[in-house]
Amino acid sequence: MDIKRLPKDDKTNGWSAILPQRTPHACVQGDVTADWLVLGGGYAGLAAARRLATNFPDQKIVLIEAGRAGENASGRNSGFGIDLPHNVGSSLDELEGSHRFMRLARMALDHLEDVVTTHKIDCDWKRAGKYHTAVSERGTRDVLDPFRKELEALAEPYEWFEGDALLSKLGSPHFNAAVYTPHCVLMNPAALTRGLADTMPENVTVYEDSPVTQAGFQNGVQMTTPHGTVRAPKMIMAANGFSEQFGFNQRKFLHLIAHASLTRPLTKDERTAYGVSQSWGLTPVNAFAGITMRYTDDHRILIRQGLDYRPNQRIGAHENAAIRARHQALFNDRFPKLRGVEMEHTWSGFVCLSRNGAPAFGQLAPNVWNTTCQNAVGVTKGTFGGILAADMATGRDNPLHADMLSLGEPDILPPRPFLDIGVRARFKWELFSNRHEA
Ligand SMILES: Cc1cc2nc3c(=O)[nH]c(=O)nc-3n(C[C@H](O)[C@H](O)[C@H](O)COP(=O)(O)OP(=O)(O)OC[C@H]3O[C@@H](n4cnc5c(N)ncnc54)[C@H](O)[C@@H]3O)c2cc1C
Repeated sequence: MDIKRLPKDDKTNGWSAILPQRTPHACVQGDVTADWLVLGGGYAGLAAARRLATNFPDQKIVLIEAGRAGENASGRNSGFGIDLPHNVGSSLDELEGSHRFMRLARMALDHLEDVVTTHKIDCDWKRAGKYHTAVSERGTRDVLDPFRKELEALAEPYEWFEGDALLSKLGSPHFNAAVYTPHCVLMNPAALTRGLADTMPENVTVYEDSPVTQAGFQNGVQMTTPHGTVRAPKMIMAANGFSEQFGFNQRKFLHLIAHASLTRPLTKDERTAYGVSQSWGLTPVNAFAGITMRYTDDHRILIRQGLDYRPNQRIGAHENAAIRARHQALFNDRFPKLRGVEMEHTWSGFVCLSRNGAPAFGQLAPNVWNTTCQNAVGVTKGTFGGILAADMATGRDNPLHADMLSLGEPDILPPRPFLDIGVRARFKWELFSNRHEA
């Protein structure tokens, strides 16, 4: 089959622009055979390849990536390794669901931390925790208060911040209150993704700049790229939203585009005026109306704002300037003392969601396993999905499989154009009904 839609790198990712130059892995050349093929070099594919290599040290694993590790969705995200569900819920079932997610997410963070530490991956990895923030009293009452009670029911540690105490942590008068939870990881996601790709076990070969343009699933799998073909008896599909192009996961995915900007580093005088010395990360109580932000170790501020429906998985060349201007205005509004600090990088990336928030995981065909659709929490969900897909494919028992399967399967979506009309209307409603959180 021909693969009609390929990922495109518009070379705007700010997280990689601030890193040193990197030499990519070679592309596929000629005929390559392997015992296992992993398609996709994001968190899911990188975790799956590493785990296959550990499970079978004598077998040959090949990972194929269309572009470069660190330039994809995984390297473009906001760099939060999330360990808690965004919505906990208070029923016994919901609390048990939260415990399951936390076991999976914390396994993924421990795994990543182990790789980062063992291979000394320089990605500013830090268990910094995060602030879940409400802008309005209504957001505080309707979301933060219940969230705090749910954390208590889960016996999870947290701190409540408001007023001057919150101002001293974030340096912005914009917020009404926040719940700080301590276990979230913050990092440079492009440095992490590159580092994971560059420190694979010896029996993994990573091929970059190798878009698969044709795929065959008879007698094993055959993936054809512009300069060569890889054949293997078995494969793990980790191409996220692009897995649809291979005939899998049809009518299960919603493709969104998310936008982010990084300022230049603050000068010494600006840091003094700002008055906050510790780096931090914050998430909004409403992901549509609110803004995710970070203050990084190298004294930049990240703004992640704007989620749009983008079924064609394409970014328009004209969009970047308008997004940067919008992010600049939002930054000026939130940090009046830092007026004059410009956005240095603005980029966008694709997020793959399912209607019910479930991952696409498990066996797709006799020789193909799936770990796609991370529902915007890809650092942890992609990593545990990749590890568990590799264990499932190799018949290795893992006590966390039950937790993974309990996350369910993506619901089937209505056909287009009804889907498009419904999603666009829902987005407008979310923005309107949560405008107090902007
Ligand atoms: C702006 C933004 C902010 C975000 N913030 C966060 C955050 O803070 N924390 C968090 O956990 N998540 C966040 N996310 C979501 C997270 O980035 C994704 O969920 C995650 O990267 C998905 O990982 P993945 O490995 O499944 O897919 P991807 O990273 O998309 O990897 C799939 C890979 O498959 C490759 N591929 C596709 N088709 C082909 C082909 N034909 N041939 C070869 N290769 C192919 C692609 O090039 C790609 O590299 C954010 C996303 C965005 C865009």
